[in-house]
Amino acid sequence: MKSYDYLIVGAGLFGAVFAERAKSAGKKCLVIDRRDHIAGNVYTCEREGINVHMYGPHIFHTNDTEVWEYVNRFAEFNNFKLGTIANYKGEIFSLPFNMYTFNKMWGVTTPEQAQEKIAEQRGAVGITEPHNLEEQAVSLVGTDIYEKLIKGYTEKQWGRECRELPSFIIKRLPVRFTYDNNYFNALYQGIPKGGYTKMVEQMLKGVEIRLGVNYLEHKAELDALAETVVYTGPVDAYFDYRFGPLEYRLVRFETEVLDSPSFQGNAIVNYTDRETPWTRIIEHKWFEGGKDKDGNDLQKTVISREYSAEWKVGDEPYYPVNDEKNQKLYSQYKALAEKEPNVIFGGRLGEYRYYDMDQVVKAALCVGTGELS
Ligand code: UDP
Repeated sequence: MKSYDYLIVGAGLFGAVFAERAKSAGKKCLVIDRRDHIAGNVYTCEREGINVHMYGPHIFHTNDTEVWEYVNRFAEFNNFKLGTIANYKGEIFSLPFNMYTFNKMWGVTTPEQAQEKIAEQRGAVGITEPHNLEEQAVSLVGTDIYEKLIKGYTEKQWGRECRELPSFIIKRLPVRFTYDNNYFNALYQGIPKGGYTKMVEQMLKGVEIRLGVNYLEHKAELDALAETVVYTGPVDAYFDYRFGPLEYRLVRFETEVLDSPSFQGNAIVNYTDRETPWTRIIEHKWFEGGKDKDGNDLQKTVISREYSAEWKVGDEPYYPVNDEKNQKLYSQYKALAEKEPNVIFGGRLGEYRYYDMDQVVKAALCVGTGELS
């Protein structure tokens, strides 16, 4: 007789949602995490009254009513809408690509003029069927925008040429022929008031949690505790890199508190040239309107410069590099994962997928429903 129905490895979003569903279904769960905190990469930590997104900016956005209603059970969301600014050598552009961007780039004022300009640039390069990120980007927004707003940023973020990257990455960003600069095409969007950690804490209420526990180092004894393991760590590490490591990108942050009410006037500013070493600067207070929890204006600000780097075994993985080579390698791991008895693999690392938060929640709810019924 095992002590737990589920051993959940990783207290991030996938693990927390699965644990919450399992607990509601009357199952006994143990959640463990290698780190000394819950919430995985959505972890926020309060500094100077500001919820700092410790592993990079997270804006919850979804079109899925079930997911939205679900997360709203654990937090009250504000009505934050992200409009990103791109700084290209001191020139400011609006992101995602919209009429403000096209106007600044070309002086055009109508959707038709913008579309003509893009068609002209696409035609000059002669792309019919885009095969990689560069071709996809030029085909969507033309060469000027590609050169100024995409090429440098993408090469910094991924450490690879745009021609070597899959086109789906750039399709994450909307292209709009309206003056709407909301970064996401989402019916529902916001930030949990009080931070993500609090939301995950609510999800895990009543569930046993052990932090600072490295699953792979103590696999046999931990496995012996539960009927089923829900593993949300890197899938290649689980199989001891049998086919070689999958590639990830990691991000590193330099965070400072500034004695000033505003540094950049926006939550996120992307530095899209190749030379600036950071990809973006996050000014955390603007995710919550620049106010503290009592609604007072904050006099200080916290900023994080984000740097991107290649991951190596032992580092914290953030982004899976879903190029062809890695997808092939992943399919070998996936085949093993499917055959692994009593283990469910989930989340960005467990499934090696560039998941957004809502997709993670959805996936955990779906696995949960199947598994727990
Ligand atoms: N991107 C870009 N310029 C920008 C912002 C994004 O070229 O100013 C590209 C880049 O390749 C990036 C992709 O669009 O990897 C997706 O951006 P998103 O903001 O979704 O990335 P995330 O927030 O997940 O880091």
